[in-house]
Amino acid sequence: MAVPKRRTSKKVKNQRRTHKKLHAPGMVACQNCGEYTKPHHVCKSCGQYNGKQVVND
Ligand SMILES: [Zn+2]
Repeated sequence: MAVPKRRTSKKVKNQRRTHKKLHAPGMVACQNCGEYTKPHHVCKSCGQYNGKQVVND
C-alpha cells in the first residue's frame, strides 16, 4: 500500500478545505401564507402547492 512520504502541513490541509463549507438550503416564501418552504415542495403550514390546495388537514 502506498504511504505518504510527508505529513500534510496545516497550510496545505486548510487550503484543501477552503471549498468545503456549509451552505444554507434554498428556501422560498409560500404564495398563500408566506411561510418559508423548500422549492418544489408542498407548504407544511397551509398544504398548498403552486396556488392549489393539495393537502387537507
Ligand atoms: Zn403556505
